[in-house]
Parts: sequence; structure tokens; C-alpha cells
Amino acid sequence: MVERHDNLIGGEWVKGSEYAPNVNPSDLSDVAGEYARASAADAATAIAAAKEAFHGWSRATPQVRFEILDAAGTRILAEKERLGTLLSREEGKTLPEGIGEAARAGQIFKFFAGEALRLGGETIPSVRPGVGVEITREGVGVVGLITPWNFPIAIPAWKIAPALACGNTVVFKPADLVPGCAHAIAEILDDAGVPAGVFNLVMGRGSVVGEAMVGSPDVNAISFTGSVPTGRRIALACAESGKKLQMEMGGKNPMVVLDDADLDTAVASAVNGAFFSTGQRCTASSRLIVTEKIHDRFVDAVTNKVKALKVDDALKPGTEIGPVVDQSQLDQDLRYIALAKEEGCEVIGGERLNRETEGYYLSPALLVGADNSMRTSREEIFGPVASVIKVADYDEALSVANDTEFGLSAGICTTSLKAATDFKRNAEAGMVMVNLPTAGVDYHVPFGGRKGSSQGPREQGAYAREFYTTVKTAYTQA
Ligand code: NAD
Repeated sequence: MVERHDNLIGGEWVKGSEYAPNVNPSDLSDVAGEYARASAADAATAIAAAKEAFHGWSRATPQVRFEILDAAGTRILAEKERLGTLLSREEGKTLPEGIGEAARAGQIFKFFAGEALRLGGETIPSVRPGVGVEITREGVGVVGLITPWNFPIAIPAWKIAPALACGNTVVFKPADLVPGCAHAIAEILDDAGVPAGVFNLVMGRGSVVGEAMVGSPDVNAISFTGSVPTGRRIALACAESGKKLQMEMGGKNPMVVLDDADLDTAVASAVNGAFFSTGQRCTASSRLIVTEKIHDRFVDAVTNKVKALKVDDALKPGTEIGPVVDQSQLDQDLRYIALAKEEGCEVIGGERLNRETEGYYLSPALLVGADNSMRTSREEIFGPVASVIKVADYDEALSVANDTEFGLSAGICTTSLKAATDFKRNAEAGMVMVNLPTAGVDYHVPFGGRKGSSQGPREQGAYAREFYTTVKTAYTQA
């Protein structure tokens, strides 16, 4: 008998009229529970509960908020193996990656527990005699949080924790493919004593639950992470209803490798950035832009490493690359790999693999001989696929790196301080990495991009308060 899991609405665990199986992409015969699918009416009930709870929560002392978030963080850290295993089972990243992500979620809750205590304001002398000016921050109201499947616990954590720390109430809709970690966070927050209605979980379809949240006049702000087409749709709806909006979307992140790079560093950065987590990271290094003199050595070394990577069941010890998340993502990856051949690339890897259990296994693909005008170099693939683009020199590398509609992360491997400094200044991206993969960030500093990748204020770190609070300026005549 597969265990059923319900939504958390207004402090009650509410059954669904439908349940969806949570299927393990490493083993399609393994179902990690059945999860309630909320209806539009459930979403409306959750929004109403959050609205009602806002007054009390926004006026609770920072100590109350600190204790709940800190307790949740402590519990997540203590249970990182259990949560990481669930994560790997439902999403397919390897167990060490799953446990690492669960630990990250715990750290994020603890960081924002502290932020609840640090939400200060300013006093500024007025230009008028006898008048004082105070600038304070208040919660925005009911915030709707909509998350993708590729970081099933870290992305929910980096939205839920700052939202609650800043005094907002939350309606959270995770991606359909990964309800397990979302439900686990809801249980942990419920156990930590979050008051009824302050945090609501509504698992379900984007077209039903997501649209109900985006369309509701009682939701004051939406924080969305996901694909560009969904983001554009949400942005239009939020503009119409005047909601505050934050969006983190796709990437086509460049990693430049210059002739003077340390080859081992460049190869390790490329392999990690492009292929770890099965390449399913918005910050993945999907365009490797390599100058002429190092190009062939770099391609040979990356090819050798990639061929040796162990692609297998996410939960098996020693697996380095887990399966693709589901059939439709696998189909998309294979379509782009076929397209790369039509576009004239030499494709190394990129083959459908069979393993002991039936799962969505794919070997990492390197698209050699790409140029930046190809569709495979311009569109986000979101799989273990990276293009290698040969360029003459640093100037051409920078120009190719910036020639994209996206602007999330950009990297460079070089031993030249001059090139690294210039790249940090001129890369059109929200995050720049020197001698590091384009993926892999800290949790206490801002995260986000520019151009087509992001809209609105940054997530994470102290900067998260820009989105989750609204500023009030109060004047007092003494
Ligand atoms: P997606 O856009 O399909 O779905 C994201 C979320 O939106 C899901 O919860 C989904 O159910 C919901 N949704 C779908 N339709 C909706 C609608 N009409 N109204 C409201 N909500 C709706 O994205 P995905 O496939 O889950 O995730 C992969 C994408 O996420 C990639 O493009 C990736 O680059 C991006 N991503 C970006 C970042 C970042 O920080 N920039 C991080 C992780 C993932």
C-alpha cells in the first residue's frame, strides 16, 4: 500500500479529490508515495487562510519567527539523510547531491531565522524643523511561492524562509514532479509550531493551483522560479492584477576557457558545471567557449572524463550522474542531441542507456564544433548536454558569452588577473565565477540573473528582504 500525503491548508491536513503517484526516475516501478492534488477551490481556501493569518503573523515578535525558522532548520539538518534520500528518489540527483541540498535547506532556514531578528529600519533627520522620519519594513502580505522540480528542497527553502522571516504568510505550490520534499517541509514547519494559515501547502498542477494563485486578488506577491514561457505568462497576469513579482528563469550559461587556463581546473569546472545534477541546473555551464590553442587538449580531456562518468541509479553508491527527471525532459534532451547533429556538431555521448531498473538514463553529451548561432547554443536544453564553441581570443570569447538572451551565471577559467578582472566587470550575468563551475553558490549572498533570466529583486542573503518587505516612511511632529 503506497502512503498518501495531504495538503496543509489553514492548519489542517486536507485530503485531495485526486492523488498523483511520485515516481522514481531511477526505477519507474518504485513509487515514493501518493500526493494530494489540490483543486482551485483548495487554493482559494489556502489563500483565504493566509489572508486571515497575516495580521497576527506580521505583528508577531521577531523572536517568535526566529524560533520557528530555527527549529525547522535544526530539524532539516538533523534529518538531511532522510530528506536527501527522498529528494534523490523523486528527482534523480545522486544521493550525495540530495543530502547536500537537504543540508543547504537547513542552513537557509537558520540564516533567515537570524534575519528575522535583523530586520531593522532607519531614522533620518527631516528637512523640516521638529519633524522625525522613520523608515521601516513590513511584510508584503500573502505571498504565493511557485517552484520548479530541479531543486526540490533548496528553492522552496530559499523562498519560504525569507517570506516567513519578513512577516508574510505563504501559499506554496511545488512542482508536480517533486511533491515529497515540499510535503516534508510542510510537516516540519507544522511540527515547529507555525500558526494555522501562516504557511499553506497546495500541491497540484500549475494550470490549476498556480493559475488560481496568480489570479487571486488576495495574493499580494508572487515569487516564481521556473521556465521562461511559464514566467512570461505569470508576469502578464501579475501586471494585470498589480502584484509584486520576482522571477528566476532559464539560463544558457557560458564558461570561457582561455589558452592560459590551468587545464585541470578548466576540465573539472566544465564537467561539474555542465553535467552534475544531470545538467538540470539553471546555472549549468551549457556553453563552453574555448580559445584556439587550448581547444583540442580541453576537448580531449573533457571527453575522457565524461566517458568515465558513472551514470546509474541515483541512490546507488558510486553513481556520479543520475537519470533525467522524466520522459518529457528526456525526449527534449534527445531532440536537441539529434538537432545538434543536423546543425553540424560532432556529438560525443548523448546515448540512451539501460540499467538494472527501468529509468530515464542518458549519457552526458558534448556537442563539439558548435557555433553560437545554432539553436543548440541559444535555447535552454536543461539536460546533460554542453556545446563547445571555439573562438580566437578573449575578446571574441566575451562577445560570444554575452551573445544570449539569458544572463544568469557566467564563468571564466584563466590564470590572467587582467582577463578575470575584465570578465567580472563585463560579463552580462547576475553571477560571475572565476576558475569555478558556473553552478554552485553560497546561501548567504544574493542569487539571481539579468536579461531574460530574471525579473525583480534578488533572492537569498540579506537582499531577499527587498522582495519580501515593503518600505514605510513615517513622519512625526514632536
Ligand atoms: P515550469 O515553468 O514548467 O514550472 C515551474 C512551476 O510553475 C511549477 O510549479 C509549475 O507547476 C508551475 N506552473 C506551470 N504552469 C503554471 C501557470 N500557468 N501558472 C502558475 N504556475 C504554473 O519549470 P520546471 O520545468 O519545473 O523547471 C525547469 C525550469 O526552471 C528551467 O527553465 C530552469 O532554468 C528554471 N530554473 C531556474 C532557476 C533560477 O533560479 N533561475 C532555478 C531552477 C530552475
